[in-house]
Amino acid sequence: MAGGYFMSDGRLIVLERHPDGPREACGVLGIWGKERSAEVAHLCYLGLYALQHRGQEGAGIVTFDGERMRLCKGVGLVPDVFDEDNLAELEGFAGIGHVRLAGKEERHVVNTQPFLVRSSYGSLAAAQNGRLLNGSELQEKLLSAGTVLQTDSDSELILNLIAQSGEESLPAAVAKTLELIEGAYALVVLSEDMLLAARDPWGNRPLSLGRLDEGYMVASESCAIANLGGEVIREVEPGELLILDQGGWRTYRQQGAARKALCSFEHVYFARPDSCIGGKNAYLVRKAIGRELAKEAPVNADVVIGAPDSGVAPALGFAEAAGLPFEIGVIKNRYVGRTFMRPTQAARRMAVRIKLNPVVDVLHGKRVAVVDDSIVRGTTSGKLITLLRDAGAREVHMYVASPPYRFPCFYGNEPSSQSELVASGRTLDELKDLIGADSLHYISIDGLVRAIGIPRDQLCLACFTGEYPIAPANYWREEDGKEHL
Ligand code: 5GP
Ligand code: SF4
Ligand code: MG
Repeated sequence: MAGGYFMSDGRLIVLERHPDGPREACGVLGIWGKERSAEVAHLCYLGLYALQHRGQEGAGIVTFDGERMRLCKGVGLVPDVFDEDNLAELEGFAGIGHVRLAGKEERHVVNTQPFLVRSSYGSLAAAQNGRLLNGSELQEKLLSAGTVLQTDSDSELILNLIAQSGEESLPAAVAKTLELIEGAYALVVLSEDMLLAARDPWGNRPLSLGRLDEGYMVASESCAIANLGGEVIREVEPGELLILDQGGWRTYRQQGAARKALCSFEHVYFARPDSCIGGKNAYLVRKAIGRELAKEAPVNADVVIGAPDSGVAPALGFAEAAGLPFEIGVIKNRYVGRTFMRPTQAARRMAVRIKLNPVVDVLHGKRVAVVDDSIVRGTTSGKLITLLRDAGAREVHMYVASPPYRFPCFYGNEPSSQSELVASGRTLDELKDLIGADSLHYISIDGLVRAIGIPRDQLCLACFTGEYPIAPANYWREEDGKEHL
C-alpha cells in the first residue's frame, strides 16, 4: 500500500497498486504536408530538436510517402539518432516524431517511439506522450484475447486497441480507443490517409496546432511550430480529436472531462521558456512566479542569482520585485559529457566544478539569494549551495519557484515514488539544514496559481497538494474515514 491521497472533491482514496511505471513526459509532433512533394523528414527532425528538452533518452520519426511508411528510431539525443543518410531514406510528405524521457532501466530501443504496424486500416504509426492509468488492465485484456505485445509501451497498446476496435472508419476506431484509455496523454497517429492527434480530456499534457508553409502540424509545444517558421493556430482542446489531411484540419470529436487539469509543472519547469501553454508564455509565467516569491518571502540579500538554467527566469522576476541586482553567479559548461572520474569525494567535487563554476567576484562576501524552479531529490540545491559557500558567499538563502513537491505524480510527468521526494515527510527547517541553506522559502500554492494566471480548478497541482484530479474508478479504491497519509 503506497498510501492515501485526497481527490479534488475531497474524497480519500487509497492506492491499490503502486504505479511505478515509466515516466513518459515526452514530446510528440506530427506534420501533414499539403503537397505530396513536401519533404517532411527534415521538418520532423528540426521540430524534434525544439522538443529535445522534453526527453533525451530516445528519438524516432515515421514518414509516409503515399505508398510506404518508413521508421527510424534509436536511443540517445536527436542528433545521435539521425544523420543525413537516414533522414534521406525517410521519404514522405507526412510524418510523426517523438522524443523520449525514460528511467535508466528502460532506455532500450524497443521502447522508443513511434511504433509502426500493419492493420486492417493499413499501415499505422503512433507516438504518445503520457501515461495510461488503466494501461495494465487494458494490457491484460488484450493478452487474454490472444494479442501478442512486444513492449510495455502504451503506444503499442493504443495501436492494438485501434486495430481491434471493429469500427468501419479509422477516426471512429481512434475515437473508440480514446473512450477506453484513461490518463494523461498527447497522442499522434499516422495513417495512409490522415494524421490524427488527440489530447487527454483533462488537458494535462500540452499539444498545439500550427500552420506551416508546407502544411499543418501538431506539437507538444508551440516552440516547435515557431522554430519551423510556422504559425500557431491554437492549442488542441482537452478531449479533442483532430484530423489533419489533404483537406486541411478538422475536429472529429470533442469530449472534455468535467474539469481541466493542465500540469502546472509545465509552467514551473518542463516547457521551454519560448512556448505558450494554456495561453500563457512559460518565460513570463516563471518571471511572475519569481515576483510573487519576492512578495511572499522575507528577502535579506545583496544579490540575486538563478540556478542554471531553470532558475534564471524566476530569479529575474524575483530581483525585479525585490529591487535587488540580478547577477550570473554560476556558469554552466554546456559541453561536458561524462567525466570518467573515480568516485572519491575530491573527484566528485571536481566533476561538479567542471560542469558548474562560480563567479567568485559576484559572490564573495555577499548575502546571496539563489532561486531555483524546484527541489526534487535535493541533491542539486545541496551541491549548488556548497559551491556558493566555497566561493565565499557570506549567506545563502534559497528560494524555490514551486511549492514543496511532496506527493508523487501518477501521470508519468515526474518521479512516481514518494520516497524519492526529499520534501516529503520533512519540515521546512529539516529541509533547509539538509541542503545547507541559511534560509529556505517556497512559493505558496496560491502564489503559483496567481503567477500562472489560470484558475486553480483548471490546473493539476497534485504533486504539491496531494489532491489528484484524474483518478479513474478502476484504478483507485475508495476508503472512508481512515487517514492514510
Ligand atoms: P534535485 O532536487 O532532484 O537534485 O534537482 C532538482 C532540479 O533538477 C530542478 O531544479 C530542475 O531544474 C532539475 N530537473 C531535472 N530534471 C527534472 C525533472 O524531471 N523534474 C523536475 N521537477 N526538475 C528536474
Ligand atoms: Fe504535473 Fe504534478 Fe500533476 Fe504530475 S502531479 S501532472 S507533475 S502537476
Ligand atoms: Mg533547476
